[in-house]
Amino acid sequence: MKIHEYQGKEILRNFGVPVPRGYPAFTVQEAIEAAQKLGGPVWVVKAQIHAGGRGKGGGVKLARSLDEVKSLSEQILGMQLKTHQTGPEGQKVRRLMIEEGADIKKEYYVAAVTDRGTQRVAMMASSEGGMDIEEVAHSTPEKIIKVFVDPAAGLTDAQATELAKGIGVPDGSIAQAVDVFKKLYQCYMATDASLAEINPLILEGNGNIKALDAKFNFDANALFRHPEIVAYRDLDEEDPAEIEASKFDLAYIQLDGNIGCLVNGAGLAMATMDTIKLFGGEPANFLDVGGGATAEKVTEAFKIMLKNPNVKAILVNIFGGIMRCDVIADGVITASRAVGLKVPLVVRMKGTNEDLGKKMLAESGLPIISADTMAEAAQKVVAEVK
Ligand code: ADP
Ligand code: MG
Repeated sequence: MKIHEYQGKEILRNFGVPVPRGYPAFTVQEAIEAAQKLGGPVWVVKAQIHAGGRGKGGGVKLARSLDEVKSLSEQILGMQLKTHQTGPEGQKVRRLMIEEGADIKKEYYVAAVTDRGTQRVAMMASSEGGMDIEEVAHSTPEKIIKVFVDPAAGLTDAQATELAKGIGVPDGSIAQAVDVFKKLYQCYMATDASLAEINPLILEGNGNIKALDAKFNFDANALFRHPEIVAYRDLDEEDPAEIEASKFDLAYIQLDGNIGCLVNGAGLAMATMDTIKLFGGEPANFLDVGGGATAEKVTEAFKIMLKNPNVKAILVNIFGGIMRCDVIADGVITASRAVGLKVPLVVRMKGTNEDLGKKMLAESGLPIISADTMAEAAQKVVAEVK
């Protein structure tokens, strides 16, 4: 789950990380009031969307008077902001943050992220702040410094100092940077984040260290123990199909291809997508209906998948273990009728009540293409979209 910058800064502030003063604003009037409270002389009007790269896209602007705060707020609020993370259609700006202007001497990068390779939290820092970190990683990887944190010890002073020195924080500000890194780590752990990124972390003219941006991702499987973070959820920023899927406890992620996939089990879903690609196709989604799905759940899954206009054919790949094949067949038939299925449907079923499931599909009168192996199923569905 993602949150807005102003919410991320609220979390950082609660953990003692210095951030500029600032207030969220949902209207131009609120933006002006926020600017009056802050007092100036320089303000920054910042678009709040769940995507980075807002500065380059025209969503972060400096204002030197209240009039300018007003005109920039009018301009940014409601705009369709395009960044490298929003896709070509952009994202509508519905919230702003009005923040005091900072005196930036140097921009750094720092982040905590889960590193699967070492099974530890990696703390990464770079002297190249304010930029797209993927670009830094690609062209000058030596400018990113990483330490891996022992979960029992936490981020040590020595590690935090190594990061601070490594990115060139001046001597007089090292203690502050070390403090920020340790607090960022604590905050990452305490909130069950999967990413906590400050880009840029700045050195101010007076030598102080401050977080000028905040980006968090949270582990969805841990949200049950963080009602305070769930409260930050902004459904306007989420994909409607994924919101719908989460209501039915379905794991759905929309992708760019044209072959819809309905599979039980995340591993089998990944393998199915790989097999489709192996035979030259492109999956339109990842969809795991889970182990204990009912016919109703399968029907909902079908509806969600078919709302994607790019879907030109569907592959259902089911292993009937806990989930019985006849239940899936029932769901597939009900859903196909309910939505008036118009695209080719390839079904592969294995396991419990396989024969009964296949019989139900054959007798349904629906134009279902049956397949026995995964390779056969993938080849057939790829052939249908070609
Ligand atoms: P994004 O990463 O989405 O582009 P940032 O919050 O990082 O958005 O802002 C982009 C740039 O705008 C920063 O790198 C910084 O140079 C400038 N900026 C952001 N907030 C402030 C601020 N409060 N004062 C001065 N400059 C700012
Ligand atoms: Mg940023």
